[in-house]
Amino acid sequence: MAHTFFGGVFPATRKESTRRKPLAQLSQPPREVAIPLLMCSDGPSVPVVRPGDPVSLGQVIARRGDCGVAIHASVSGRVTAIQDRPHPWGGSSPAILIENDGQNTPCPQRPQPVEAQNVELPLLLERVQAAGIVGMRGEAAPTWEKLARAAGRVDTLIVNVAECEPYVTADYRLLLERSEKILLGASVVARCLGAQRAVIVTEGDKLRAVESLERRLLRRGHSVQLCTVRTRYPLGAEKQIIQTVTGREVPPGGSALDASCVVLNVATLYAVQDALFRGRPLTHRAVTVTGGAVTRPRNLWVPIGTPLRILLESAGGLREEADLMLTGGPMMGVALEELDAPVIKDTNSLICLTAGERKPGGSGTTCIRCGKCVSCCPMHLAPVFVRQALEAGDRERLAKYRVEDCISCGCCSFICPAQLPLVETMIWARAALEEGGDRL
Ligand code: SF4
Ligand code: SF4
Repeated sequence: MAHTFFGGVFPATRKESTRRKPLAQLSQPPREVAIPLLMCSDGPSVPVVRPGDPVSLGQVIARRGDCGVAIHASVSGRVTAIQDRPHPWGGSSPAILIENDGQNTPCPQRPQPVEAQNVELPLLLERVQAAGIVGMRGEAAPTWEKLARAAGRVDTLIVNVAECEPYVTADYRLLLERSEKILLGASVVARCLGAQRAVIVTEGDKLRAVESLERRLLRRGHSVQLCTVRTRYPLGAEKQIIQTVTGREVPPGGSALDASCVVLNVATLYAVQDALFRGRPLTHRAVTVTGGAVTRPRNLWVPIGTPLRILLESAGGLREEADLMLTGGPMMGVALEELDAPVIKDTNSLICLTAGERKPGGSGTTCIRCGKCVSCCPMHLAPVFVRQALEAGDRERLAKYRVEDCISCGCCSFICPAQLPLVETMIWARAALEEGGDRL
């Protein structure tokens, strides 16, 4: 029985153009991949190869230092340079450039696959750490740390397939096409963590995935449960999905562990089972290439480090000028200046929107005090009052509005009839409070 969460909005899903497109290979493999050292939210990794070194598919090319995660070659070939390249999170970052020899020669030091019944917590953590797995949608934090913190403290593992961002269907295709592996991964991870149940959460409009999964669960008498929820944004956010599945509310400033839950995105869980049962590190991922400006929208299975430009070429290029290009989704995604940045571990989409598809944003008009930004905020915040306090330079009032709880979901900006930049307002307010000083 699904519960619900407060607030949220119903943007047009716009998933029709890719939801029936199976995960496909690139039409041309990349001649060169640029694998950034920064692919983890806690900082960059340390390279362990030098220009001129030959590398094989899955070989470690960077390791965790004080921060970061292990990084592996996603093609075989030769390292040509380590130099700054555009990064999909913005700006540039050092990247290991590998000239692809097209052979995909596997690394001989690959760990041996293990049987599901032989996986215990220490082995799970060791394999996940060695495979360089991070949260593959949004957070990009080391997954082994998340699992280590959760062990013995959770009763529910939630597998998040609630891909509530419009346009994106990469997780849906992964669930639909590789559900056996995902089910096995979920049951093993739940057992290792001591969780009594594993719940896969999908949106109600993902019917084929849901039906096929339900058939498998019934046939096998599986320990994994399925929870289908009506599509509402931001269902996929961690606190909202926990409340939806368990009815428990994560306290302000708290984490999933305070609700005895751990949440893994389905792509992350797939990478975990790949590391365990096939000895494969995280070198490839599913990416949706879509938007009204794209000639042939599709879902692709691509080597990490592939320039986004190559993905767009595999989708037939642009059929008209893109007014906005972004990764991540139109609600919380990151706008791209150009397409030289590569796919990294948390890149789930490349979306190229026409001027007609793009919601008119910008400076906005005047607040009409409709209250919609308050009633849609899933974190019970009041962006309209934050904006007023910020404009008045009233720090004391601003400090009362819990701006630190904002999850930047974008619901308030989406719904505001005056088109005010409310997410940006929340970000500015948080920065102003953190900077300190008497005046804003
Ligand atoms: S962006 Fe922040 S303030 Fe706006 S609706 Fe989301 S959580 Fe609330
Ligand atoms: S939604 Fe926009 S117009 Fe309505 S109260 Fe909030 S800021 Fe004002």
